[in-house]
Amino acid sequence: MKPDTRLCAHLAALAPAQLPIDPADILDWYDGPISAVVRCTRCGGAGILELIDCDQAAGTRGFTLAGLEPEAFAVYRRNVDRGSCDPARLARETAALYACAGPVERLVTLRASDGAVLQAGPAPAGFHLPDATREQRLSARDGWSVWREDDDGNRFEVSRGLSLADTGQQAGQCEARGHEQRYWLAPTRRASHSPPPTR
Ligand SMILES: [Zn+2]
Repeated sequence: MKPDTRLCAHLAALAPAQLPIDPADILDWYDGPISAVVRCTRCGGAGILELIDCDQAAGTRGFTLAGLEPEAFAVYRRNVDRGSCDPARLARETAALYACAGPVERLVTLRASDGAVLQAGPAPAGFHLPDATREQRLSARDGWSVWREDDDGNRFEVSRGLSLADTGQQAGQCEARGHEQRYWLAPTRRASHSPPPTR
């Protein structure tokens, strides 16, 4: 993550229904975009959308939106076009692209069927993506749990079944109250008797 990479003023002020996703800029697809690059039509700025929540019943998908250096995407496209037959290389190039994204600034909800923007707003204070891989994020069908470890090394599941946006809010509140324990996020597991996940 590059802390100084920000969305351009236009993408940051994005109103719903103004999200320009070119089908050619979709990086990952599973019944709809999982990650995609969005490009500003006014200044050429770029952002990266990453799926964080799927609501099958409502037919919606939640995404984070972070700034991206436009040059990094140009390099990615060039390298992928050149070495498109090598899946290991594609994974490396994709990881390099994500490393050029800035902090999450917006949360965006899209309709799964046609990609229409239903909601877009600033990410809650304290929001951060968990260290989980994208595969783990996609498989977090029962939502997310906030875990806490106290000074004696005991681990507690503080809450379960939250959306990622809500976990950010909760972790932010915990930190604001001055708790000194460690907090982290993990996909909520149905069997609550299994051992706590490590960070
Ligand atoms: Zn712009």
